[in-house]
This record gives sequence, structure tokens and C-alpha cells, in this order.
Amino acid sequence: MIEVKRISKRFGQNEVLRDVSLSVADGEVVCLIGPSGSGKSTVLRCINGLESYESGDILIDGQRVDRERGDIHKLRTRVGMVFQRFNLFPHRTVLENVTEGPMFVNKVPREEARAQAVALLEKVGLGQRCDAYPSQLSGGQQQRVAIARSLAMKPEAILFDEPTSALDPELVGEVLAVMRTLAADGMTMIVVTHEMGFAKEVADRVCFLHSGSIVEEGPARQVLSEPQHARTQDFLRRVI
Ligand code: ADP
Ligand code: MG
Repeated sequence: MIEVKRISKRFGQNEVLRDVSLSVADGEVVCLIGPSGSGKSTVLRCINGLESYESGDILIDGQRVDRERGDIHKLRTRVGMVFQRFNLFPHRTVLENVTEGPMFVNKVPREEARAQAVALLEKVGLGQRCDAYPSQLSGGQQQRVAIARSLAMKPEAILFDEPTSALDPELVGEVLAVMRTLAADGMTMIVVTHEMGFAKEVADRVCFLHSGSIVEEGPARQVLSEPQHARTQDFLRRVI
């Protein structure tokens, strides 16, 4: 489904990704962990076509992600992204935030888009808050709206970039619960997270990134409970 083949990327003199390879099968959940600045967000941004890369290839369902190509916007709608900061439109209601993309990008008729949005908001536990504005919601609720908004585009995969890092601790669980449901429904997901409990429980595989290289990857339990590489051991000692 997603195939990253030996990509390298630099920002000026700073080599931020070195020969990173990662493949994610349909329905698989992969957690990407690693210290701040190791390149986790950059990997997601390259997969989603938000960032270019110097060498290597990224394929989504066999189709190359290439920012120079005219169809990059179309490709981007096939892979959703959920950010640490939810980026909802502040002057639109919850429902309007979710219908915006389907109506204006995918040209879905208004009534159909609304019906679908209500169903998705029910799925994330916010069926009662369709007419609220983002500022009236907690951070956890806003992040669940952001997930519903991403799902409304019917993506083939969703990339999550530290979706719970900006939340108060008591709100983390409700967002992870929604993500757990998506995983159980078979959504293909790459999740950058510091929630090691979630990674151990939900991820099929965990990749540990350090200084732009994947230094260790394997089944979640193996990487998190019996890390082989000294850098992974050192990182896990500090986060757990
Ligand atoms: P992580 O998400 O693991 O914290 P990032 O992918 O955000 O790491 O960043 C990796 C490296 O790339 C860091 O050294 C960061 O400073 C650098 N970087 C990220 N975005 C930019 C940018 N737009 N311009 C210059 N350097 C950047
Ligand atoms: Mg980041």
C-alpha cells in the first residue's frame, strides 16, 4: 500500500533523512518512534507529498508520489493526515469542517456530504456536537473532529503526526480510543507517537528513527520490549 524506498532528504547542509525505507501493507498499523528532530514528521510529509526528497522513491498503491507531477493534489487526498495541532477552521461548525473537503475537493453533493459527516461524527463520538464551533470543544474533541474530517475524504491510509502530544493528559485516551477503532476496522495507518502503550497494543510494527535513519524495526512487542540496538534501548529508557 505505502512503499518508501531508500529516500534521502536534506534541508541545506542538514541531511535529515538518510536512505529511509519503509513499507506498509494494506490494513497494517506502523508506529514511528524516535527522538525529537530525528525526521519522523519529515517522513510523513514526504509520503503525503507535502515535502520533496532528493533521492529514492515513494509509491502509494504502486503510484509514485512526485511533487512535480500535476496529480499530486489528487494523490494527497488518497492519504489523509492528522496533525498535532488540529487545524480546524475556527469560523465553521464541526459539521462544516467535515463536509468542506468532500464538497469542494471531491464534489460530493451537499446533502450526501452532510449525511456522511454526521455518520462519521457519530463514529468518533461527537454526533451531538455537529453545530458547535471548534473553540467550544475540548482539545480531545477537536482532534476527533480532525480525524472525522480526514475520514470524510475516504483515504486509503491515514498518517498521524503526534496526534495526542498537544492534549491535556486526561484527553489523550479518547483520541487513542478512536484510533484503536480505526485500526480494528482495517485502516492502514502510520502513527508517529510517544504513547508506547498504544504502540505496543495497536501497532503491527514499530520503526525507530534516529538522526534520519531507521536503526531498528520489527514487531511492536519485540522492538519495545526487547530492543536490540543501543540507541533504541537508550531512547526507550528515557520515554517509559
Ligand atoms: P521530528 O518530527 O522527528 O521531530 P522533523 O522531521 O520535524 O523531526 O525534523 C527533522 C530535522 O529536519 C530537524 O533537524 C529539523 O530541524 C529539520 N527541519 C524540519 N523541517 C525543516 C524545514 N522546513 N527547514 C529546515 N529544517 C527543517
Ligand atoms: Mg515531528
